[in-house]
Amino acid sequence: MKESQVVNELFEKWILDAKIKLDEDNFFLKINDYLESTHPEICGKCPPCRDGVVRLETLLNKYKDGVATLKTLKEIEDIVYNLRSSRCSVGLDIGKNMEVVLENNYHLLYNPVKKY
Ligand code: SF4
Repeated sequence: MKESQVVNELFEKWILDAKIKLDEDNFFLKINDYLESTHPEICGKCPPCRDGVVRLETLLNKYKDGVATLKTLKEIEDIVYNLRSSRCSVGLDIGKNMEVVLENNYHLLYNPVKKY
């Protein structure tokens, strides 16, 4: 299975198992691969999806580069929440899959930026 599919199916699987989470191996690579795979579907009509997905990729790259902060994580959360106001299922689905990541893999995003 391609990495992008693993994330793409997260919300669908979450309906059956609310504890479903991404395997920690290649965590950022999986998400990156997934977000990149959505590019051809993004038509650009609404900001939450058009601007949000690109911004999410930039913010997640900060983790890969070791420069993420709590502010980075907060912005990721805001963008993912914002995807709820997307105009069609493309943005909505990206948001739903990313909400599962935030819900069940949160420590992978929080631990590198926590202050204590
Ligand atoms: S959510 Fe739908 S309408 Fe909005 S930019 Fe994405 S594909 Fe276009």
